[in-house]
Amino acid sequence: MTASRVYLDWNATTPLRDEARAAQAAAFELGNPSSVHAEGRKARGVVEEARAAVAAAVGARPQQVIFTSGGTEANALALTPGLKTSTKSLDRLIVSSIEHASVVSGGRFAADRVSAIAVDRSGLVDLGHLQALLERDGPALVSVMLANNETGAIQPIAAVAELVHRAGGLLHVDAVQALGKIPIDIKQLGADLVSVSAHKLGGPKGVGALILADGMALAEPLLRGGGQEQGRRAGTENVAGIAGFGAAVTAAIAALPADAARLAKLRQKLEKNLRQTQGSVIFAQDVPRLPNTILVGLPGLKAETAVIGFDLAGIAVSSGSACSSGKVQPSHVLKAMQVEDRLLRSAIRISLGAATTDADIERCAEAWRKLAATLIRRDDETELERFQTS
Ligand code: PLP
Repeated sequence: MTASRVYLDWNATTPLRDEARAAQAAAFELGNPSSVHAEGRKARGVVEEARAAVAAAVGARPQQVIFTSGGTEANALALTPGLKTSTKSLDRLIVSSIEHASVVSGGRFAADRVSAIAVDRSGLVDLGHLQALLERDGPALVSVMLANNETGAIQPIAAVAELVHRAGGLLHVDAVQALGKIPIDIKQLGADLVSVSAHKLGGPKGVGALILADGMALAEPLLRGGGQEQGRRAGTENVAGIAGFGAAVTAAIAALPADAARLAKLRQKLEKNLRQTQGSVIFAQDVPRLPNTILVGLPGLKAETAVIGFDLAGIAVSSGSACSSGKVQPSHVLKAMQVEDRLLRSAIRISLGAATTDADIERCAEAWRKLAATLIRRDDETELERFQTS
């Protein structure tokens, strides 16, 4: 993320916001928030201020926020058998087939209690299939993300919530990629549990939260011990991380309208440029998407090689989600969208953020043109070298 480099992998993680850095620095030396003395009370104040900020960002009250070690833990905490509606304790889980690995894994549900909802070719959940699964399985906990980390496709959560609640179930929404990029209101979504993560919006890594709807109770904490987080998540709070999260979320929400409008324009410009390379396909292009996300493919290009090519050109992008980088595995998201193999294996995710400029977009478009010309059908080390020196 140095000056000469162009960072276009904001869905993997974001640079730390100045506000978050300052809040963390001020909180490093604080006491234990559970202590009754002045040092402890000061730390408690910082944690509660951050809790109020996270709650406000999703239209909730502070008591509804449980701090966790990130989005992954928030998802694991939500996906627990035994969540109660007024009439039933839920012992089945239904997840969309494009969820993050931490949700697809089913959390604490046994594998034979988990079903997957199909998506259409644009990457939106198939509401008819969800309805059929609810009719077949009865009331269930359903988990559908607000925005997909690979395509950016924004899911029809309000419609999902209506189906789930009509069937007597509960809805968990992974909003990790959405928070700070589009406005979120837990009541408007109709969600019963919402997961968020600090490092996707300019906060530190290793901090997140699960937000419960008003009146909603957890089935079972993941960690037992001290009574922190009202007994819902034991362990001394990560005070500095939480302080950074609070500061980052406040800054991200304040900047959201202007950032989203600017990024949408940059994205449009970049997509137009990418499409000039014949055969380029933008995934989920016809459905509502996050303003910062592009998933582009070109049959014959090999994504892993192209990512290295971009890197050599000074540009950070990714193939599929960062959590699966290192492993060359085809994207389960594009598989669920029934994308043909050659195209699927070429997919590159370009995700923009607050620091992205017009010049960055031009450099990225130029790199795509060159990579397409040099790597297609001939992608090997030699081709990369040629790209590097051209
Ligand atoms: N959910 C989604 C949609 C994500 O994109 C990610 C991270 O990439 C996570 C959950 C996991 O969040 P964390 O990295 O905070 O554990």
